[in-house]
Amino acid sequence: MDDKDNNFTDDMDDELKNDTSDKKDNQKSNNDVIKNDDNNQYEDICYMCRRPESQAGRLLKMAGSFCVCADCMQKTFNLMNTGDIPGFPNDPGSKDPNSNPNNLFGSNPFGFNLGYIGDIPKSQRLKKKPAPEASAKTEEDIKTLDFRKLPPPHKIKESLDEYVIGQEKAKKVISVAVYNHYKRVTKDASGDIEIGKSNMLMIGPTGCGKTYLVQTLARILNVPLAITDATSLTEAGYIGDDVESVLSKLLMAAENDVERAETGIVFIDEIDKIAKKKNTTSRDVSGESVQQGLLRILEGADVQVPVGATSKNAMVPMTNINTRNILFICGGAFPELDKLIKNRLLKGSGIGFNSVLSDKYDDDDVLSHVTNEDLREFGMIPEFIGRLPVVYTLNGLDKSMLVKIMSEPKNAILKQYQKLLALDGVELLFDDDALEAIADKALEKETGARALRSIIEEFMLDIMYEIPKDRSIGRVTITRDYIESKGGPRIELRGATPVLPSNFAENSN
Ligand code: ADP
Repeated sequence: MDDKDNNFTDDMDDELKNDTSDKKDNQKSNNDVIKNDDNNQYEDICYMCRRPESQAGRLLKMAGSFCVCADCMQKTFNLMNTGDIPGFPNDPGSKDPNSNPNNLFGSNPFGFNLGYIGDIPKSQRLKKKPAPEASAKTEEDIKTLDFRKLPPPHKIKESLDEYVIGQEKAKKVISVAVYNHYKRVTKDASGDIEIGKSNMLMIGPTGCGKTYLVQTLARILNVPLAITDATSLTEAGYIGDDVESVLSKLLMAAENDVERAETGIVFIDEIDKIAKKKNTTSRDVSGESVQQGLLRILEGADVQVPVGATSKNAMVPMTNINTRNILFICGGAFPELDKLIKNRLLKGSGIGFNSVLSDKYDDDDVLSHVTNEDLREFGMIPEFIGRLPVVYTLNGLDKSMLVKIMSEPKNAILKQYQKLLALDGVELLFDDDALEAIADKALEKETGARALRSIIEEFMLDIMYEIPKDRSIGRVTITRDYIESKGGPRIELRGATPVLPSNFAENSN
């Protein structure tokens, strides 16, 4: 037996002696012992080395709440192999095996004597760390609606209004469609008239709030949401994700609760990227074939879905998901679709009463005139369009909407910065023309509201760095000059007149 093992047996003997006294204590105050009902608040402990599970690693649990760690198990096997078991007749350290009734094997040399293992007092147990979900605070206080109670469309829209700026038509359409969808799900809608699914297609330029609208909707209704990108999908058997992967993501979002997943929402972004490829002779595995593949799940079918993974293989368990009550929302920017629509609108107008000046639709919101024919010409197959009966468009964001997006929603980015500085006791203000300057900069980038965050973060970096240095600062006002790198923000000291500190003289942009 090597030194290590000797130490181990010595340790065990010491432990056993300690245990005897512990045992007596335990008998005195049985209240200290973990009861079954509060057992899961405490970590399990290795009954041999007394280390808690967080230190000893995964414990092997046996009958009667007896736990043992892998190290002790291994050492026990080693001891058994060598035969140098303490308390056994051939143990050189022990003349009489029966002299110590409290050792591990007691007077029975043929088996473990588990009798000495009393309940472990609370004082020896580490309290389990609370589960992360329980301790994590929710990001923000969201008032959720219970979709089972069918909140009427105006209530859904009211909740959306708190977060999403503008897009009035889209919010109205989505509220009605969602209301009808969940009516179909929660009420018994069977009968001679079958209510169809209200799957949707959203068309709008990038950064106008398509994804954000769906995310907000799912949060408000407290239903699981899977957001997926159509560009990653390919026909089964080719490199890329199968169409079933969208359902795997939904199942993950529902924490593997199939029933919850079956009433969730799937948002498929960049749907215009799976348009039928024009002038191609090869097989269109990431375009038309994906549309074909999606038909079945959009309609409502039983689909075999891998659990905990997005691709099927022999090692992944599968489950069955019925997509009948899953709401599918597809979104895309559909570039060049406006040209197709304009051509169609102008084609009908020749000369005479019906003639329309070709520039009539230039400023008009052409996309809102979209029809199924236009989408077909764009490359979407008729069966696919047929399964997305609710089609609506979102407008590109103008300057005034961008200003509102920065400052008005419940969790507006400027409000977030104001709160951060308020925690340092500093008031943060923005001049109106400063907000317009930010909106102008964002419009130049042509990525909608997406550009706002990066612009704001850039100039707020200096503020967030410099302000905490000087505890006398009470108020900071962001000016247009500061945004345009022509000057600094207005700084006011607590109870003093405005000053302009030198370190803000020039914005680093
Ligand atoms: P896309 O239309 O490309 O899906 P997103 O929905 O991802 O654009 O928008 C990007 C970000 O811009 C969102 O996270 C949100 O913060 C903001 N945003 C865009 N549109 C709006 C809007 N109408 N109201 C409020 N915030 C918006």
